[in-house]
Order: sequence, then structure tokens, then C-alpha cells
Amino acid sequence: MSIVATPIGNLGDITLRALETLRQADVIACEDTRHARHLLDHHGIRAQLLALHEHNEQAAAEKLLGLLAAGKRVALISDAGTPGVSDPGARAVAAVRAAGHAVTPLPGPNAAVAALSAAGLDAPAFLFVGFLPAKVGARRTVIEGLKPIAATLAFYEAPHRIAETVADLADLLEPEREIVVARELTKLFEQIVRLPLPAAPAWLAADDNHRRGEFVLLVSAPPPRVGIDAESERVLKLLLAELPVKQAARLASEITGAAKNELYRKALEIRAATAGGG
Ligand code: SAM
Repeated sequence: MSIVATPIGNLGDITLRALETLRQADVIACEDTRHARHLLDHHGIRAQLLALHEHNEQAAAEKLLGLLAAGKRVALISDAGTPGVSDPGARAVAAVRAAGHAVTPLPGPNAAVAALSAAGLDAPAFLFVGFLPAKVGARRTVIEGLKPIAATLAFYEAPHRIAETVADLADLLEPEREIVVARELTKLFEQIVRLPLPAAPAWLAADDNHRRGEFVLLVSAPPPRVGIDAESERVLKLLLAELPVKQAARLASEITGAAKNELYRKALEIRAATAGGG
């Protein structure tokens, strides 16, 4: 089975390999058959369609297994972007793999990666969160849990919740962080703005258009921590019992995320105190 990424807006964003695979497919599993028809008609593709969405994924997967067993060529697409990324697909893929059939990804558009590529946020890592919970309590708990993670955070959001979600991000995360609001990517009204996080709620409120369309939100990594918290000091002490100062400081920094130079200074202090104490 081929897992085929499709456009997130601009119908031209489809790879040559994706088109060839979809043309050769006997059956294309898709989230919404009308939506898929729009894309496929645009490219003159007339395969049989099979609906596979979050409410029937297991049953649809059974049908796919039957088709694959009968030697049919099957492709899986979602409404937009990469199947299985905040979209159905994972359960069908698991069932197909478990039955011993090959699963081949055909990479292509993905809204989070498109936003990252144009954001200019310089961070070694990013964490794809996708959609936050719709309920306010659960959403705020998840954001609190994400706060210490040393990575750019990537969220998806719908227009009817964008204001609440951005307000919670601005309320709970450090004011030094920046946000990139990437709206309507690859479409007519594409807009990508980078703002200090505390300024984002006012930017959204300033113009109704700022809250329209589909959104990726990227939040820059947390500011480097200054000083050493109790947990980092505990880790440092354990490592210092076994390792030289420099190595202990480096490893403690990797484990805890605390600044290496601060840990190094602290390690020298601890060593001096230990040496002084005999
Ligand atoms: N599978 C898709 C992918 O690979 O990006 C994501 C599907 S998810 C159901 C839809 C969400 O992705 C939207 O609510 C929005 O947050 C984001 N998204 C999809 N297309 C987008 C676009 N053109 N511009 C900005 N965000 C988009």
C-alpha cells in the first residue's frame, strides 16, 4: 500500500511520483470522497475510491486487506498533507503491516514542516504537538507540560479556537518566547508573521482576517535557564562522584537542560568544598 501526501492548498504541490502512483492505483482510500475527487479530477485520475476516516478506520482497513490480498494496487491519501499526521491512516497502516503487506511512504506536503521551513526559527529540535485539547483545563495542562521542553513547539489550530489557544500560550509560556503564526499556507491569503509571544493575542484581535483560515503555530524554544535548580544540582553531584568536573558538567547539562557553564562553575565549587573538607 502506498501512503501518498497530497497538497495542503495549492493543487500544484504534488510530486511526480504521487501522481504516477495515484494513476496506477486500483483503489484510493481517502477521508472524504468528494474532497478527493476534486484533487483527482484536477489531475485526470479516475481510480475507485474507498472512504477511510476516523469513524470507520478499522472497518475500512479490513476492506483494504481484502483488496491487497486480491493483488490490487491500493493508495491511501487524506484530505490534505501527509496521512497519519493529525489525520487518519495510522490504524490502517498498522493493520496492513501486521498482515505482512508492504507499506511505502510517498513524502510530500505537511503543514507543520512547511511553516517551519519559512519561519526562520533557529533551534536544533522541534516537537510536533498537533492539535491541543479543545477543553480549556486539559489544554492548559498540556501547555504547562510542554513548557520546559528545549525545542520549537509546532501546533495545528482551527479558526474558531485560534484566539483561545494563542491566549493560553501567551499566558502560560515565558514572555521571551516568539510565535510564528502561519496561516493559509500555499493558498491565496498565505500569511506568515513572527511576533513576541505576549504580542500575539493583540495581533489576532486587530483584524478579523488574522483569525481566518487554517493555522500552524510555532513557538520558539524556551530561554536558556540561568542558575541551577535543585534537581540539576542533584544530578550534577551524582555525576561528580564518578566523573571529572568537565565531563560531569557536560552530561548534567544534557540530562537537565541547565546551562553548561553554570553547571561547570557549580561543579568547581562543589569540588573545592569537598577538597577543603578533606
Ligand atoms: N495531514 C495534514 C498535514 O500533513 O499537515 C494535517 C491535517 S489536520 C486535520 C489539518 C490542520 O493542519 C489544520 O487545522 C491546520 O492546523 C493545519 N493545516 C493544514 N493545511 C494548512 C495550511 N494550508 N495552512 C496552515 N495550516 C494548515
